[in-house]
Amino acid sequence: MLSAEIIAIGSELLTPERTDTNSLWLTEKLNEIGIEVKLKTVVGDDAGRLEETIKDAFARSDVVVTTGGLGPTEDDITRACAAKAVGKNLILNETLVDEIRARFQQMMREMPEINKRQAMIIEGAQVLSNPHGSAPGILFQPTGDKFLVILPGPPREMKPMFENLVLPRLREKAGEIVVKRRVLRVAGLGESAIDAQIAPIYTEYQNPQTSILFNRSEVEIWLTAKGSSEQEATSLLNEVGGKISEKLGAAVFAQNGELMEEIIAKLLTERQQTLAIAESCTGGLICERLTEIPGSSAFFIEGIAAYANAAKIRSLRVPAELIERHGAVSAEVAEAMAKNLRALAGTDFTLSVTGIAGPGGGTEEKPVGLVFIGYSDALQTTHRRLNLPGDRHLIRWRASQAALDLLRRKLLKN
Ligand code: AMP
Ligand code: MG
Repeated sequence: MLSAEIIAIGSELLTPERTDTNSLWLTEKLNEIGIEVKLKTVVGDDAGRLEETIKDAFARSDVVVTTGGLGPTEDDITRACAAKAVGKNLILNETLVDEIRARFQQMMREMPEINKRQAMIIEGAQVLSNPHGSAPGILFQPTGDKFLVILPGPPREMKPMFENLVLPRLREKAGEIVVKRRVLRVAGLGESAIDAQIAPIYTEYQNPQTSILFNRSEVEIWLTAKGSSEQEATSLLNEVGGKISEKLGAAVFAQNGELMEEIIAKLLTERQQTLAIAESCTGGLICERLTEIPGSSAFFIEGIAAYANAAKIRSLRVPAELIERHGAVSAEVAEAMAKNLRALAGTDFTLSVTGIAGPGGGTEEKPVGLVFIGYSDALQTTHRRLNLPGDRHLIRWRASQAALDLLRRKLLKN
């Protein structure tokens, strides 16, 4: 399997003002044809550093792709540095000079002398013509096995050049490899607990490759399979994905990277059932997440952000004495919120959230992160008590996720 690295060139890319997006796009394209990107570097317009970086890269990787630094000005040094790095001369390509001059003539302008520099090509290399700009790219392939690809920086020039002139050759070299990825998403279990359960499964396989990533409130299991055909890669993903899902059971909420709210939307829409939400500490976050999903009007009826006690009493008919006796953050109030809203809204299900998101407001008895989720359907009203870690933002997000996950698990049981 070929290994690649990407060098993004330009001092502006080292500042917070500009982001190197070229390497992300290139990585995706290379991965799709089974070439693994092992390293990427951002180098400023510094001749010494750039030459050194290209030289090292070309020594260790099969495919090196650079972007940027091909303009006509003094700070555009990629051509010269790359030539030095591979020990070759730069030669003026007269045909290219004519082409660049013709581009200028088309725009009714005289070619400035400095643009001749853009026609300097590494000895023995091929020119990658650029219909979208003046800087041609360079493909240097001293032996059959090593590629140095030099592309312009502007994405609208770089992308078509890579896709039309470079990708076909790399694909040929890489052979028929198909790479497919599947993301399983898991709720309610920590990274280490998940790993303890599934490591015996995934360590049996080199392919697919497995990585476990922690997100705001869930863990993602990334499976990346390579095969000589689409079917082969898919069947590897099915095999390992299936074993992992079986082991983790209902904790796996998405088989293909879906969001929790997408899963809820799908389940409720399929069953033609309805939902309403009463939110205190999440203040509408759950409603926001659900209504982001196109078609949510099929199942989502209403949401009430009842933040103050008075609002819980007035809008959700929570008895004042219940709040007095147990506090607004309590199992009793969470259940009352859910149960009363179901009666008011007439939905099949309701969820409620009440909790302490912090940073203030915690006590010894009820610390920051204490959250009660209420759930109600026609047969039962119940709650979950959670102690969520994190700052205000994370606590609110995790509470929203836990509420949706509670509903999901109830739906799967019915
Ligand atoms: P250059 O070829 O270095 O003259 O770059 C010209 C322009 O291309 C820069 O001003 C950026 O706007 C853009 N550019 C260069 N490198 C990148 C990159 N790695 N990602 C995104 N845009 C880039
Ligand atoms: Mg530049």
